[in-house]
Amino acid sequence: MSEPRNYQTEAIVIKKTKLGEADTILTFFTPRLGKIQGFAKSLRKPRSKLAGHLELLTHSQVSFARGRNIDTITGSQTVNSFMPLKNDLWLTSCGLYVAELVNQFSAEHQENYSLYHLMLATLERLCGENNKELILRHFELHLLESVGYRPQLHECVVCHKGLEPTTNYFSPYAGGMLCPDCSLSQPFSYPLSVNAQKVLRLLQSSDYAGASRVKIDPELAAEIENVISGYLKHLLEREVKSAAWLDTLREQRLWSHS
Ligand SMILES: [Zn+2]
Repeated sequence: MSEPRNYQTEAIVIKKTKLGEADTILTFFTPRLGKIQGFAKSLRKPRSKLAGHLELLTHSQVSFARGRNIDTITGSQTVNSFMPLKNDLWLTSCGLYVAELVNQFSAEHQENYSLYHLMLATLERLCGENNKELILRHFELHLLESVGYRPQLHECVVCHKGLEPTTNYFSPYAGGMLCPDCSLSQPFSYPLSVNAQKVLRLLQSSDYAGASRVKIDPELAAEIENVISGYLKHLLEREVKSAAWLDTLREQRLWSHS
């Protein structure tokens, strides 16, 4: 039996690529189909009926007609436009950062329901909750877990001993923590304070409600951000994907938030 010619799915718009005069290729993240692409004819014409339902970061119900090379978008209805994300420059770059990480860490047509659920929950939180940086750190750690790169934070990845409550080291190459002894033989590892280790473990093991109770001063926040972004960058570069966008978005966030 052949596949039906038309299908529908809920989806979040994670990327838009202009094509020719007025057409657009959209990249979606979906609950059951993973990352997919769709062709939208004349989306950039002023009178396009679809355009409002296919903005970046919009959660929509989208209809497709199967095509030989790419499926064509035949309809779209907004479920949640995440308006606050579109009305504030800093929030926009937070949202785009989330979308770009999902795009980079997921393969086409590979279902990852937990990541879809995490992305949706993260966009909702960015619209409502206060501590945006903590929301992003929580998202990053849980994204890493759902794509198979959960960092080891409880034992030394070389000698496998449990970590003492002292300054230990994080190695992006080894994907986790090193005890002080093993860190001597591993270049490119970051020293991490006892508090940073505690917060990272809490973020990794808790849902957001649990994680959001922790109080983090700016110095500790910067320490945590550095270590996670170092790991993300290492993974993206290893996959031969550009990590430059990560710095660009990060700088935009910092710039527009100050
Ligand atoms: Zn060790």
